Amino acid sequence: MKILGVKIDQITYQEALERAKAMIDAGGSHYVVTPNPEIIVRANREPQLRKILNNADLSVPDGMGLVMLGRLTGRPIPERVTGVDLLDGLAALATEGGFDIFLLGAGEGVAERAASKLKLKYPGLRVTGTYSGDPDPKFDKQTRRILESKKIDILAVAYGAPKQEKWIARNLPYLNLKLAIGVGGALDYISGERKRAPTWLQKAGLEWLFRLLKEPRRVSRQLALPYFVYLVLKERSVKR
Ligand code: UDP
Repeated sequence: MKILGVKIDQITYQEALERAKAMIDAGGSHYVVTPNPEIIVRANREPQLRKILNNADLSVPDGMGLVMLGRLTGRPIPERVTGVDLLDGLAALATEGGFDIFLLGAGEGVAERAASKLKLKYPGLRVTGTYSGDPDPKFDKQTRRILESKKIDILAVAYGAPKQEKWIARNLPYLNLKLAIGVGGALDYISGERKRAPTWLQKAGLEWLFRLLKEPRRVSRQLALPYFVYLVLKERSVKR
């Protein structure tokens, strides 16, 4: 389905992982995005970002706002699918299939600690490297040189949205890998740098509230949600 011009695949977490596996098996390079209402609002006024999101091979709904919108409009989005959960599932998939993972982004040392945690959880997982780097285009060549020296099947890019999606769109054509995915703050969570909401809060669809209380400065980002609802209602009334 399209929300404000942005493609969202109406799939579950398990289906997303199956699609990812199929992409890896198919050969060629693919990328996955995880839009939330904030990024959809931004893509609505930034055609270049919209194009990047819509060209993705898979676009999973990362936000309760999207799930609720699906319910209200009778176009069901089964569940929220986050970057951090997908990265965890991809690590399991990589362990089973013998794929090599590289973790790019996050603060100094964070990706390395996340790699250790993932390897503890999934013995046999091959993380071929980690690199903090910088999403500024002037560092692209330098980062690519590091990536080109490794064997990589799955690349997790943790520069936050939309920097990570733009990074992937600029650099994927030069890289020899199977799947790239923007994972936002996933490496912070996996490394233990930041805490996720307790599972019961996640299940209640209230992880956003937990994040807001932990990091009040995110309030300006979360204000995108009411604006998102307003834009969707406006679009629907125009269509009618
Ligand atoms: N980040 C980075 N370089 C930058 C900007 C951000 O490595 O120039 C990392 C940051 O350390 C964090 C992630 O990108 O690990 C962004 O996390 P956030 O939760 O803000 O992303 P979201 O999930 O909201 O897209």
